Amino acid sequence: MVTNSLMATYRQLPVTFSHGKGLRLWDTAGQEYIDAISGVGVCNLGHAHPAVTETLCKQASKLIHTSNLYHIEHQEKLADTLCTTTGMSNVFFSNSGAEANETAIKVARLYGNNNKIKTPTIIVAEQSFHGRTLATLSATGNRKIHAGFEPLVGGFLRVPYNDSDAIEQIAHRHKNVVAVLLEPIQGEGGINIPSSDYLHKVREICDQNGWLLMLDEIQSGLCRTGEWLAADHHGIKPDVLTLAKALGNGIPIGACLAKGVATEVFQPGNHGSTYGGNPLACAVGQTVIDVMKEQNLAQQAQQRGLQLQNALQAQLGGHPLLKTIRGKGLMIGIELNIPCAELIQMALNKGLLINVTADSVIRLLPSLIIEDEEINFITETLTFIINEFSNNHH
Ligand SMILES: *Cc1c(COP(=O)(O)O)cnc(C)c1O
Repeated sequence: MVTNSLMATYRQLPVTFSHGKGLRLWDTAGQEYIDAISGVGVCNLGHAHPAVTETLCKQASKLIHTSNLYHIEHQEKLADTLCTTTGMSNVFFSNSGAEANETAIKVARLYGNNNKIKTPTIIVAEQSFHGRTLATLSATGNRKIHAGFEPLVGGFLRVPYNDSDAIEQIAHRHKNVVAVLLEPIQGEGGINIPSSDYLHKVREICDQNGWLLMLDEIQSGLCRTGEWLAADHHGIKPDVLTLAKALGNGIPIGACLAKGVATEVFQPGNHGSTYGGNPLACAVGQTVIDVMKEQNLAQQAQQRGLQLQNALQAQLGGHPLLKTIRGKGLMIGIELNIPCAELIQMALNKGLLINVTADSVIRLLPSLIIEDEEINFITETLTFIINEFSNNHH
């Protein structure tokens, strides 16, 4: 379809999907595709999951929205479930990831101001991605995302990722720091996995200085990496945790969770959202978590992720264009030596949906219900197009 009535915010691929099932999508011409990006890490249970569809239909026929002027049963229940599952203590619901991070940033600022810190400052990382609202784009470590939106929101100090010494140094010099905001694995930044002791060290520095450790698990959370949270690989707990993407399997929902001192920061009137935590979104969120538990999807993601990474390594290891294959569970990056955005269209032509981020990293975020056949298809198709791409560039 040709349209000029949309704002030109997206560079969209020339395809429109009409329906899906599991990892499969069909376009309006009836062509079938394997989805290895899941709407950017959202449809972790796959497309048209029967339990999600059932909850959605049932809840839509009963009650969609009442606002936060009143108690909402599904919201309270999902909050309990998320706290039990993650070890956090309370939750604020929003409608997106950026809003969940906005909430975290507001918690940190209010925490600082309550403690008589006049210009509360949050440490953030290079190559990070936290969203597209003004505060979250300011927190994001990507010049392209800042460009043209200056003046940026202040109160952020940027450090290299995976460098706890850089954070330690700031602790000696700056008296206004109140929090550190990090992705435990950077997604948009190129599937960057920090060294195994990094989060531990950052946790220690936060504890020593009375700072909040705020983890953005919007992409890495909810079984994606083979644990409930990517932080679970390190046995650490944040003070503030943000979730979104997979929580609604496509129904917009975000959550900011707090623990310890961070739980008592917000008081009535400090924050709000008209839709946030409405019965429809929360009923679906509950079903998503239930299915993840019943089907042990964290373990699935761990096993299938290993299988996919091994298959990719077996096919592509030693390829002259390959730099590294890295990942945790089903959050996988294949870094090439050269920019490779053209691979997206080449994959599409072969019936495979992938993404390329940080110019040269093929990003795979397939649904956690992936099986052998789809793993083989992804591996074979990627190998084929990378060879073709390699030949084109000789
Ligand atoms: C996607 C993402 C966001 C932003 O979520 P939206 O729902 O697009 O606002 C924030 N942080 C991380 C790590 C993400 O991957």
